[in-house]
Amino acid sequence: MSKGKSHVVALAGNPNAGKSSIFNALTGSRQHVGNWPGKTVERKEGEFACCGMDIRLVDLPGTYSLAAYSPEEVIARDFIVNGGVDAVVNVTDATNLERNLYLTVQVLETGVPTVLVLNMADALAKEGIRIDDDALSQLLGNIPVLRTVASKGVGLEELKKTIYRQLVEPAPAEHHFSVDYGRDVEREIASLEEIVRQNPELAGSNPRWLAIKLLEGEADIVRRVASKLGENGALMAQVQKSQGRLRSLFHDDPDIIMADRRYGCVHGIALQVWRRRSHNRLTFSDQLDRVVAHRLLGLPIFFIALYILFELVVNVSAPYLDWMSSLFAGPFTRWILLVLNALHAPAWMTSLMIDGVLAGVGGVLSFVPGLAVLYFFLALLEDSGYMARAAFVMDKFMSFLGLHGKSFIPMILGFGCNVPAVYATRTLENRRDRLLTALLIPFMSCSARLPVYVIFALAFFAAQAGTVIWGLYALGVLMAVVTSFLFNRLLFNKVEKSAFLLELPPYRLPTARSLWLHTWEHLGEFIRRAGTVIALVSVILWFMLNLPLGVQNTRDSWFGEASAGIAVVLKPLGFGDWQAAGALTSGFIAKEVVVSTMSQVYAGEGNDHQYAELLKQGWRDDLDTIVIGFGRATIESGKRLLELVPGVHLERNANENATDTPLQIALQGAFTPAAALAFLVFVLLYVPCVATLSAIRQEFGSRWMLFSTGYQMTVAWIMAFITYHVAVFWH
Ligand code: GDP
Ligand code: MG
Repeated sequence: MSKGKSHVVALAGNPNAGKSSIFNALTGSRQHVGNWPGKTVERKEGEFACCGMDIRLVDLPGTYSLAAYSPEEVIARDFIVNGGVDAVVNVTDATNLERNLYLTVQVLETGVPTVLVLNMADALAKEGIRIDDDALSQLLGNIPVLRTVASKGVGLEELKKTIYRQLVEPAPAEHHFSVDYGRDVEREIASLEEIVRQNPELAGSNPRWLAIKLLEGEADIVRRVASKLGENGALMAQVQKSQGRLRSLFHDDPDIIMADRRYGCVHGIALQVWRRRSHNRLTFSDQLDRVVAHRLLGLPIFFIALYILFELVVNVSAPYLDWMSSLFAGPFTRWILLVLNALHAPAWMTSLMIDGVLAGVGGVLSFVPGLAVLYFFLALLEDSGYMARAAFVMDKFMSFLGLHGKSFIPMILGFGCNVPAVYATRTLENRRDRLLTALLIPFMSCSARLPVYVIFALAFFAAQAGTVIWGLYALGVLMAVVTSFLFNRLLFNKVEKSAFLLELPPYRLPTARSLWLHTWEHLGEFIRRAGTVIALVSVILWFMLNLPLGVQNTRDSWFGEASAGIAVVLKPLGFGDWQAAGALTSGFIAKEVVVSTMSQVYAGEGNDHQYAELLKQGWRDDLDTIVIGFGRATIESGKRLLELVPGVHLERNANENATDTPLQIALQGAFTPAAALAFLVFVLLYVPCVATLSAIRQEFGSRWMLFSTGYQMTVAWIMAFITYHVAVFWH
């Protein structure tokens, strides 16, 4: 703090928020009035002193935004960003907080230290409005928030002291507030920010802010940056590329999309901190939010939405699952046989390719239709804006559990895949929250577990398949809740609560392109894994099943021997045969492998007779299986969808119901329904996969990884034990 130079503080706010009243009260007669250079807009400047410090106060023109749409906005924006401002006092009309916060958020984005003034505090009580100042401050990155009645001079001494403190001790950089623009926009911002940081010519401006403005295509900023960088075209080229990508994704200009997200952010904040006793004049989106994001109604609505989701996944995908299996058992096997025969491949090679690779990979790939439906609906929920509401509703629930509200996002990601979910805990501020969340994530049933559920649910509980699957997901969540309760008391001191920022983006109809991209992102990864990890594991498994040389019975193979040893431990859970133990063991690699292993060990090997039969078929038969089979599956799936509508019952032949695959028939012989249920519970709860464990190790160290593994195995065993015995008892 140099002695000679006085500090500059700018007053920013919407028109009629009370800036001039505050300006006059603070500066008294020490004012100069002039014009902004080159503009006809009045410029008022004055001085006041606090605690021996001279402070120069500038009354900025009233604006609703810092986008450069009007001369007032350009003046306000440039003065805050380039005017050597030490702090901004953002004056708001607290009775219209949401509208005022739109400017606040943009002021905060510039990164300049800010004090938020809730003016018109006298009108709040009159209009029956309550504001949670502390939560507001926390949501905005812990900036000072205070109330004033500017017209009566109330709260102004406190304001002076707050300004003084803000100047002496500006908040450290990591506490700055930022809007979350959603993964697609954030990705582009990050790549622009990276280039901005690499350009020494641009040092001095806040890199994120500049990246945002460039992405929004604000003309004067773009011009200024272009003139500074001269011939260096890398940044501008990236701006064009990023804008193009967002346009094709959302069918809208980036500045519109980003303004939408900003409104969403503001809406979310207002919903959390601002309450009016009587609501009137609600928009459609507000009305929807009053139901969907309701404190009590929201939770059942969220669970009903999940229930419908899984009913859809099971009903739509089951017929396609049969179709895909028939492709692998029929045409694909035949084609491989044709190639192998043409190459005069030895018999063991045929067995490796068909009983090993094709059985394993095919067993997993059969789920592509089901997962496509799952990922599609998750993308729909997210892109339409509902997921943010669900997070909002769950936040109350999470803090009830003593969890940080932000933990909900990694946990929801866990339904897709646990690995990125563990890495997503990095967004939490303290290690205790991060660790606790990471320990809970494995209970979130990832999509790789779904194939196991579907196979078993359709084989054993066809009529209630959706309910069983939904119940498993719910059990996972329940175990996470119990674990959180337990660990909070036993491992950690009780976590003190802190507010967290929830963006509520406006509801919007997602574009086909963004739905497709977000679905494909996950589906592509699933298919890639089938082609790599799972193919490799299938080959290894085949050798384990066929060694030592000349082994007649798979039970006597290396794999059978090892699995039989493990099976002893699983006996009390109802599924003590070596095949089940083997499938669970290989499931450590990835949960889909449970299915591919079962396809290999239960469904058994093809024999020469079957192959000969298959080879007799021709291309016409293949075409039938592929095309007509697909048509049948589509009709069947359409019928099932219709029947989900209450009151609709279609005529159905008994044999029209989905037929069981060979694997499902084999499973029905090996498991009792009670054992099948216990097996599913075990699959849900035991260690997710090697990749998740290594993510936990990387983030928290080997000891926590081992702890997590031990805990999961114990919980899985106990819960499967209980499930099995309760199910047997009830039967
Ligand atoms: P500006 O446009 O932001 O400069 O706002 P002004 O300071 O000109 O205030 C606009 C109007 O609101 C004036 O009529 C003020 O008297 C009135 N006003 C300012 N602060 C308060 C307040 O705290 N309570 C009430 N009830 N009125 C206020
Ligand atoms: Mg004024």
